[in-house]
Amino acid sequence: MTQSTPQSRKNMRARTKLVHAGREPSEQFGYVNTPIYRGSTVLQPTLAALEARHSARFTYGTHGTPTTEALELAWSEIAGAAGTVLTPSGLAAITLALLTALKAGDHLLVADSAYLPTRTFCNGFLRRMNIETTYYDPLIGAGIEALMRANTKAVLVEAPGSQSFEMQDIPAIAEVAHRHGACVVMDNTWATPLFFPPHERGVDLAVEAGTKYLSGHSDLLLGLVSANEHWAKPLRQTFDFFAMCAGPEDVFLALRGLRSMELRLREAERQGLALARWLRGRAEVSRVLHPALEDDPGHAIWKRDFSGSSGLFSVILKPAPKAALAALLDNLQLFGLGYSWGGYESLVIPFDCSRYRTATKWQPEGPALRFSVGLEDIEDLKEDLDRGFALFRAQL
Ligand SMILES: *Cc1c(COP(=O)(O)O)cnc(C)c1O
Repeated sequence: MTQSTPQSRKNMRARTKLVHAGREPSEQFGYVNTPIYRGSTVLQPTLAALEARHSARFTYGTHGTPTTEALELAWSEIAGAAGTVLTPSGLAAITLALLTALKAGDHLLVADSAYLPTRTFCNGFLRRMNIETTYYDPLIGAGIEALMRANTKAVLVEAPGSQSFEMQDIPAIAEVAHRHGACVVMDNTWATPLFFPPHERGVDLAVEAGTKYLSGHSDLLLGLVSANEHWAKPLRQTFDFFAMCAGPEDVFLALRGLRSMELRLREAERQGLALARWLRGRAEVSRVLHPALEDDPGHAIWKRDFSGSSGLFSVILKPAPKAALAALLDNLQLFGLGYSWGGYESLVIPFDCSRYRTATKWQPEGPALRFSVGLEDIEDLKEDLDRGFALFRAQL
């Protein structure tokens, strides 16, 4: 057979790219997968080669191995990026992206609905570095123009919002940001590049917590930052300053997860929508926050810019005492109570954004729950919740 190349795959579909990108069997004695390369030292054959090492493909462990290169190339191909770097966690990917775009004295705009540890980094570390953050209403769209200052060098977007699922008009925000010379950084973990092609929509640096759907098995931590043509070099340079490398086993597992990511995402979407619609019909539920539902406030933007939804969404219950919530959550057998998401197993977690929001008010009418729907049979999931809701009602 003839080995396909990024060039020959250019017009192929995402599923095909997921299977063939980042693999060179001819370089691995014909084996299908690139194995785990563990290593610090890369030996050079001669003094001349050592002195010319900066043009060599591999020079030292922190600068990459065949394993990390495989995932970086595959991800760039799938994300439509000019370059990708890997980090030991999703949060490390966010901080690396922001540090690529910002320097002391700069101003940063962050969606009020952003992932909470992103805020903690901005309010703690970036403030210490004399970088000021202003939070903005995630629904602001082109209105972000009014918040731009001469020193605004980055705008962080995240759609849908972490936990609260507001949709952002990213092309509109990117248009304003670019006119003012600011870098658009996106946390694209929910949709992944399969459902939202970040760089086509105006994002400069796109972050993915590979911990979620890329892994798909709740067994590793990993982050990825992909960059468009303009930002690929500054991103790599900032990565090299820190040498904040991902571990070889985690990268290998992520490459394995990559091959089936589309299948798992499509199933998560199907299961997620089925459970969201079922929950919307429950008497205990006040609202379901899921942009792929036709009556969701963010549905029009989702439909315009996204090609799918993942299995993560939230619900607002009708007012209920803590004891009722505990009766529900303590007795579920199939929904684990824990952080993270995107694994094969279902999870649920209560949340409250009102403690930390500053640009918008979060005032749900009752307790808020976030669901990550796994691969269990949907009927069993409904029956588990049905039992839980009976115990919930008994405490009202
Ligand atoms: C989980 C998550 C992250 C961080 O990923 P970690 O690997 O856990 O650090 C970032 N953004 C979003 C939206 C997430 O859900």
